[in-house]
Amino acid sequence: MKINSSLQTFGSILLAKAVSDLFPDAKLANNKIDDFGFDYLFELSKPLSINDLPKIKKQMQKIIDSAPTINYLLLDKEQAKNHFINNQYKAHLIDEIKGQISLIKIGDKYFDICSALGFSKFSIIKQIELDNVSGMYWLNNANNKQLTAIHGTVFESKEVRDEFVKFCIETRSRDHRLIGSQLEIFTFDPLAGQGLPIWLPNGATIMYEINCFIHELLVANDYLFVNSPVLGTKQLYETSGHWEHYRENMFPQIRVEQEEYVLRPMTCPHHLVIYKQRPRSYKELPYKVAEHAILHRYETSGSLTGLERVRNMQLIDTHIICTLPQIKEVVKKCYEIIEKASSTFNINIHSVVLALHDAKDTEKFFKDEKKWLFAEEMLEKIVRDLGIKYERAVGDAAFYGPKIDIQVKNALNKIITAYTIQLDFLLPERFKLEYIDETGHIQRPVLIHASVIGTLERFIAIYLEQTRGVFPLWLAPTGVAIIPVNNETHLKYCQQIATKLKQKGIRVKINDLDDRLAKKIRDAQVKKIPYQVIIGDNEVKNGTISYRKYGEQDSKTLKTNNFIKLLVKLINNKN
Ligand code: ZN
Repeated sequence: MKINSSLQTFGSILLAKAVSDLFPDAKLANNKIDDFGFDYLFELSKPLSINDLPKIKKQMQKIIDSAPTINYLLLDKEQAKNHFINNQYKAHLIDEIKGQISLIKIGDKYFDICSALGFSKFSIIKQIELDNVSGMYWLNNANNKQLTAIHGTVFESKEVRDEFVKFCIETRSRDHRLIGSQLEIFTFDPLAGQGLPIWLPNGATIMYEINCFIHELLVANDYLFVNSPVLGTKQLYETSGHWEHYRENMFPQIRVEQEEYVLRPMTCPHHLVIYKQRPRSYKELPYKVAEHAILHRYETSGSLTGLERVRNMQLIDTHIICTLPQIKEVVKKCYEIIEKASSTFNINIHSVVLALHDAKDTEKFFKDEKKWLFAEEMLEKIVRDLGIKYERAVGDAAFYGPKIDIQVKNALNKIITAYTIQLDFLLPERFKLEYIDETGHIQRPVLIHASVIGTLERFIAIYLEQTRGVFPLWLAPTGVAIIPVNNETHLKYCQQIATKLKQKGIRVKINDLDDRLAKKIRDAQVKKIPYQVIIGDNEVKNGTISYRKYGEQDSKTLKTNNFIKLLVKLINNKN
């Protein structure tokens, strides 16, 4: 469900007016619109709490009822600033806007920055929900003042509001942060550091299985695995151009003796150093290298979101060094590998974007228009020839070249880039990569960056939201829960079954706590364990097991060996 964003902007303006009516010394900062409504940020002399929200909501309603006149005006910067004396926040916002400033005027003397929304009466707002008060740094920067943010949503009718409430409940139940904590997959701890995920045993198991799968997939496609350090010299990133074009996403340098190091944001420079270890023949191309890498990228504290935006991330990063004529085949293979991985995880590819450079943005992109056009034309032709439907996005390329962004939908129906394939003519130049061709001449190869499933953090966030944490047997941290009806008489038989399952690589847990049977069954259910096995007198006597699959009502009975065979088959088929 998508709420009307113009109405949310209008609602945020109404909220700000109500707050300034109630707290005349409040300094209005800015508003932000999101999928759940709006935030308005204020500097207040005394803190607000959630208990203040009913009073503010009442004031909003009072303003609606008083039906003030609403006008929109266009002013130049200085005129606009005159309406916000002593408000450094509005002055900053006005300075950031190009051209004339659009203001909304409510009644005779109240102004806010707002472009014309097409609404001339607050009575269009029929329902108001204010649901949160939180602290937010001005401009998301922790060095700035912390302001008070009020979050709310407004609706044009009660029906829309009811539908929205349903949507929120559904979305919340899919939120990967909630599922991740309920299933003990990952955690964050302020003592350990913001944006630095800690993978608990269940999460580490899932990660291991995903890594093994991707590793095997890549080895089967002739990738060579390497291992290189999490940090490198500053010169390495100066050579690659990351220091010039990507520094704002990197942690500051670390000085050791006379040298400066940086935590690496990507593995490309190291992989190119590996390629350059000795002269390469055309016979070695395409040279495909892969690594289980740990990367660090600087994100502002305000932008960190669960596993979707973190400061420490893991991925199997791959680079392919090839000749010009090999590009098409390499890109095609990369796309096939991504498709194979996605279908194994039952994740649907939603759309493909061809991300191109913006010639006007000389700060972000390297300056060589000829090279850009050559690379972009080539990539576009490849995507077209492969029959992939795509959209173009100018300005979204990497600083070193155009890319194909492969997108999926998250639980909020938001489209996010999950995987990329990037074409790069710049880094081979900067690192002076070479190969010897069929005629013995030295040539410059091309570099392709690709990641099969992107970072594990982002991938697991998407996966948790799409599956609600219901994992297939091969990925589930615990595949089988074995529950004895009676610990004294059935536990030994349970242990025998567990041993057999473990020998086949199936992860098992016996619940021998002194709880009631119903509670043990419920526990396995809450943990979303794919198979529950219950062992009582009949099972021990007949050498059978009774099992129930997660999400199914009926239980079935099988000879123990047949049950094990069934599970082994499921694991081998990644089901
Ligand atoms: Zn790369």
